[in-house]
Order: sequence, then C-alpha cells, then structure tokens
Amino acid sequence: MPVPLYRGFDYLLPPAWTAKARPGVRVRVAFGRRKLHGVIVRAPFERIDTAQDYRAVDAVLDDAPLLGSELIALCTWAADYYRHPLGEVIAAALPGSLKHGAAAVIARPLRWQLTAAGRAALAGLPAHHRVQRAALEALRDGARAAGEWPVAPALRARLLERGWVETVAADSARTATAPDLPALTAAQQAALGELEASSPGFRASLLEGVTGSGKTELYLRRLRAALDAGQQALVLVPEISLTPQLTQRLRERLGDGVLSFHSGMSDSEREQAWLAAREGTASVIVGTRSAIFVPFAKLGLIVVDEEHDPSYKQQDGFRYSARDLAVVRAQRLGIELILGSATPSLESLHNAQAGRYRHVRLTQRVHAQPPPRIRLLDVRGQTLAHGLAPLLLAALDRCLERGDQALLFINRRGYAPILLCHACGWRAACTHCDARLTLHRGRARLICHHCGTQQAVPAHCPSCGGTELMPLGQGTERIEQALANRYPRQRIERLDSDRLGKRHELERLLEDVRARRIDVLVGTQILAKGHDFPNLSLVGIVSADQALYGADFRAIERMGQLVTQVAGRAGRAGQPGEVLLQTHEPEHPLLRVLVEHGYEGLSAALLAERRDAQLPPFSHLALLRAEARDAAQPMRFLHAAREWLLPLPGLQVMEPMPSGMERRAGFVRAQLLIQAAQRSALQRALAATVPRLAELARGVRWSIDVDPADLF
Ligand code: ADP
Ligand code: ZN
Ligand code: ZN
Repeated sequence: MPVPLYRGFDYLLPPAWTAKARPGVRVRVAFGRRKLHGVIVRAPFERIDTAQDYRAVDAVLDDAPLLGSELIALCTWAADYYRHPLGEVIAAALPGSLKHGAAAVIARPLRWQLTAAGRAALAGLPAHHRVQRAALEALRDGARAAGEWPVAPALRARLLERGWVETVAADSARTATAPDLPALTAAQQAALGELEASSPGFRASLLEGVTGSGKTELYLRRLRAALDAGQQALVLVPEISLTPQLTQRLRERLGDGVLSFHSGMSDSEREQAWLAAREGTASVIVGTRSAIFVPFAKLGLIVVDEEHDPSYKQQDGFRYSARDLAVVRAQRLGIELILGSATPSLESLHNAQAGRYRHVRLTQRVHAQPPPRIRLLDVRGQTLAHGLAPLLLAALDRCLERGDQALLFINRRGYAPILLCHACGWRAACTHCDARLTLHRGRARLICHHCGTQQAVPAHCPSCGGTELMPLGQGTERIEQALANRYPRQRIERLDSDRLGKRHELERLLEDVRARRIDVLVGTQILAKGHDFPNLSLVGIVSADQALYGADFRAIERMGQLVTQVAGRAGRAGQPGEVLLQTHEPEHPLLRVLVEHGYEGLSAALLAERRDAQLPPFSHLALLRAEARDAAQPMRFLHAAREWLLPLPGLQVMEPMPSGMERRAGFVRAQLLIQAAQRSALQRALAATVPRLAELARGVRWSIDVDPADLF
C-alpha cells in the first residue's frame, strides 16, 4: 500500500480473482476509511489467520502483472537498503496515472494500409472515381500515419467499411535509416575496445573523459550493439534540460524507439513511455532519476551520463541514488553498465581503483585542442566592481571585442545574499530560518532561499530607521546588471532557476546561445551541465571560495567538479579557451592542486584525505534527521534513537548535533550521524531500528538518509 508504514497488508481474495491475482498486479482495497490502490507483492493463498478479520479486495485491476518480478525485486532491494517503506517505493516506481489505478493501455499511433481487397478494388476502380483512387493510390507503396494520409474522415470511414483499408499499429521500434557514422578516433577506438566485453554478464565501466572527448559517441556505439542484439537500453541523465538534446541525438542514430522519461512530461506521456519500455517496443529510454524504475522487457545496457551529478540522489521522501541503483540493477540482471563523466565521483573512482569497474579513459578532445587551463586570479586587495576584478573585466573586454562568447559562473542566484544597514549593522534575516534573506532586485523582494518566505524590500532599516541599506556580496542578477551597464550593446543573459520558471525558457535561451545571439551568459551550476556553446572563449568563475570553508566533507569535491565542468565549456570550436577563477585563497593547497593537476589530481588528493579520515568511500554513513517546532524534541528523539543503536556491533554512533541550519521553515532541526566500516553492519543496524523509530517520534518529523549526499 502507498502508505508510510514498514509493513504489508493482507486481504481476502474473492475466488473469481484467484487466477489473476499474482505478484505485480494492482488491486483496489479499503484502507481505513479510504479506498487505495496497492500492488500484490506476495503470492496469495498463504496461511490464513482465522483469528483475524480480513477485508476483501475490492477489485483486481490488471489481467497480467504490471510490475514484473525483476522490478518488484529491485523495489524490495531499494526499500531494504534505503530503509524506506516498500509501499511508497513501489508507488514511486509507478507513473502517476497508473499509481492511481488507471488502466494500463498503450495508445498506439495508428497507420493506415491497403488490404488485399483494397488492392484489387484499386485495379478495377473506374477512372472517374478520382478522389477514391487518389486515396487508395497514396497507400500503394506502404502504410502511412494518419497525418501523412490526408483523406476526409467520411471517405476514410467508407473505405474502412468496405474492407479496402485497415489500421495497423505503428511499429515504434522501427530502426532509422543508418546514417553515416563518424570514424572513431584512435583514442575512441581503444576505449570502445575496452568497453566491449569478452563475455556476457554484468560488467561495469567507468568512462572518464573530458568534455568533448567523445563519450556520447561511445555510448551510441554500445547502444547500437545492444539494440542489434535485440536488447533495450536505459540512459540516465541528471537534468531534464539534457533529455531533449540527447534524445534527439540518439533518435537520429537509433530510430524512433528512443523515448524520454522525465518529470517535465505529462502524466500520460510518461505512462506511455513506461508501458512501451515494459512491452519492449521502446528501444531506449532516456530519462532522469526516476527512470531507473522503468520496467523493461529485455534490458541489456544501462548508461549513466554525468554519473557524479548530485541530482541522481533524491533529497527528500524516498532518498535513493539512481546512480547506485543502476549499478545494483545491472548487477542483478547481469548486463552492461557504463558510468560516464568528465569528473567522476570519488565513490566511482574508488570502485574503479578497487577493480570493481573497468576504468576507461578518454584524455583528449575529439577536435584536438587541449582542454583549457584554469588560471587563478588573486583578488586580494583588488578593487572589485560588483565582485569582478579588473583582470577579469579586461579579459571580458578582449573576448567581446573579438566577437566571442563568455560565460560567468557564480553559484548564487538573486542580486545579493545580504542586505545590510550601513548605520547600525542590521541584516535582513528570515523569521522562520537561521538564514539571511537574499535581495532580488528585479522582483523588488527579499526572499529566503531555504523556506521561500518573501517580503518587500524595506525603505528604512527596521532597527534604526536609517536609509542607507546596502546589498553585500553578489548573485547572478547583480553580475548580469553590472555587465549590462558595462556592455550596453551586447546581449547579456542570466541562466538560473529563477529564470527557468517558464516552460521551454531554457531551450529558448540555449538556442540563442547556439545561434550566437547571446554574448555573455551569467549563471549558476545549470551552466555546468553539458550544454554546447559554439563560440565560447572565456569562462570566469566569480568565486569558489565558499566551498573551501564548506562544512560538508564533499564541498571541495563538488567545487572541483563544477569548476572543471564549467571550464570544460570553453574553447570547444577549434579555439583555445581561457578560464579565470577569482579567489581570496590563491595559496589554498587543494585549489592549487586543481589548477596544476586538474580534477584528476584533486580527486587523488581528496581520496587520500578521505582514507585518512575514514570518510566515504572508505566507510559508510547514514544520517538520521529530526525536526519539530518544539526545540527540545529533536534532540530527545535522537538521543533515544542513539540508545537503541549504541549496543549494535560495528557502528560508530556520533552524538546528536544541531543541523547546519538549525532552524528552517519554523522547525528546529538536529541530526545523528551513524558510521560503519562495513556496509553490512550499517544495514543490519538500520534494519533493526528504523522500522520501530515511529515509537519514539511523538510529534517529531524524522527521516533516514542512507549514503547521504550532504550532511545538512
Ligand atoms: P562528450 O560526450 O565527451 O562531451 P561527444 O561525444 O558529444 O563528447 O563529442 C564531442 C563532439 O565531437 C560532438 O560534436 C561529436 O559529434 C563530435 N565527435 C565525437 N566523436 C567524433 C568522431 N569520431 N569524429 C568526429 N566527430 C566526433
Ligand atoms: Zn540600521
Ligand atoms: Zn526561511
């Protein structure tokens, strides 16, 4: 049942349905006073407890299991591993309409074709039946989609009635006319050789290649091989914005059977793609995180693009990692898995070094020019104009004079993160969170980025009445405005989540970038995600210093990935790129490693640090979070949970601590970190305690996060 309870429920099955009711079939049942849709997970007709008063199933919805045994097993594995109620996991695996009991019917696009009778009729049809003849002749060379057969509905109906034409389902798995394949470079050829297996069965490869090194081309070759072997494939991407581009590129090469699956699609579009994958007519599904739960008739390959991306981890509710589940799924199915990235996660690098994955590298770009070097810009003591140093501005001037494009990266949206009273030092703060309000000038609002609270920008300081309120620090909006003032004739645009409220806004912006209608793009980490800029020769990183003091142990890994990915956008079209990174910490050892030895050097240094500190991937973590309006409750709950965990073997249970941001959206938050050298010890401990935590909760909202992506 789709409820947050760590158990299943038993119902009586009326005899008429015993044949249909198998695991994976949906049922409608009374649950409390509601009617809910659930999925049968265990074969019925087991022992009946005569002392219990069972309710009867209302209806059995499917004739055949909607979820196959592979998917039920995957959901069960995920529920156990992430300690999340199985009913909610299964609900997460079903697209919206199917979750709510809709019939699982594939709406097939129909095609029209001539019958044998129609062919005969056409031969004998008198010439003056011109309209009929034309309609039939249009089908003489093969079936046509409705849109390609422009015939009036009345005539269509008449021809159908006479049995001269018929409808057939369009074969969505049609293969495309084989386009010319680019000849692989020597490096690609070598990498492809490594990806290809000597024997069938599970094999995982970490494909590490700088941006533009031709990873996608290699995915395409492996996808083609899977399809040729009669198998289907799943391609995971971190971001919705990447699915249309990649789907299009895959379609051109692999045919119409390539379908998308992501949250930007309507419920029915998602449902149709899901069903097509399940029945085997979709050859490839390109999707975001939740696509890891799409069922396949004959899955043969999973590709996880940009495998390091944090968005593969769901950050609320059922907190799973789609990347990690991809590994599990491929392993259970005994199939091929490719994890691709220019900046692999430390987890995957560690797995590769331990021999669990093959480590396949592409070190050169396809189009010869070397990846850009990053230069540190020491901004200490410099006069900054809205956060931009003179050297960066000079580089921008030169870039725009050449008619090239530039990109400025700053990981903060809004105008300024702080609004300060110059007279008394007051700073605008959120009343619900331990956080400052961010100034958004365009909307003339102060907004809390943690709970969404908004207010008007005050004209006077609420504390002293002073009128000199100054924005401190910068966000994308401020940089955009500063540049718009400096370069009035150039087109400056901003790309961040505030900007992307409208549908298709991103596609429109990126199209403008590709068509070179935009000269400077200012944006957040959205910029790092695999978009093509044809004429980009300068990348400016306004600051990455925040990460150097970040409380999270992954902060520098993330920073290194972001900086490398953003830098990788530069100089793609045959010209070397320039990358400038502003910092107040030019001597920081890890920043120096990044600049001098690239991400590879940084990741090696970070892995050594993690090993010394026994942090992941050299140990395993789970984070128990708790929050309540009453300040004392979360700590009380976590201390009680800790008492349960302490006697269990193989664990290190830390003291409960207030969360990094202790108050958010009116709730006081705290957390308990549980660490184990062995995954199995952690799993056993969580299995023994988490399902019973509700007994301790008493008004506390809590959640368990296995392999947390951040520790806030
Ligand atoms: P990545 O996925 O590593 O960023 P892509 O596969 O997208 O790299 O390749 C980068 C660019 O080079 C693309 O425009 C692609 O079409 C082109 N490309 C890739 N492989 C070849 C090749 N062997 N010959 C010519 N062009 C190629
Ligand atoms: Zn004041
Ligand atoms: Zn807030």
